[in-house]
Amino acid sequence: MHELSIAISMVDMAAEEAAQRGDVKVNAIYLKLGAMSGVVKDALLFSYDVVCEGTPMEGSRLVIEEVPIIVFCPKCEIETAPVSINNLCCPTCETPTPQVVRGREMEVTALEIE
Ligand SMILES: [Zn+2]
Repeated sequence: MHELSIAISMVDMAAEEAAQRGDVKVNAIYLKLGAMSGVVKDALLFSYDVVCEGTPMEGSRLVIEEVPIIVFCPKCEIETAPVSINNLCCPTCETPTPQVVRGREMEVTALEIE
């Protein structure tokens, strides 16, 4: 499962960071997740809890900030939200907008440490 391996690497990363700071406790991991990242939010949250169980990370939270899709319309020359995730067209002029500006990201933005 895709989300499980992502959760494992995130927890590993946070545990390493905590160890480097002198075995502090991580309360939360903040993650930015784009709507087109290909990661299922609920599956990731579930995997996170499974991975944390029985580790020093147990009881910590994964806080996901969902990033909507933003595309660039070459005709209107603006950045806009597309019609839908399956229909990347400009809502104003209906030009296909293959240039995705935001929405593919998956990055840890912060760790909350005790
Ligand atoms: Zn347009």
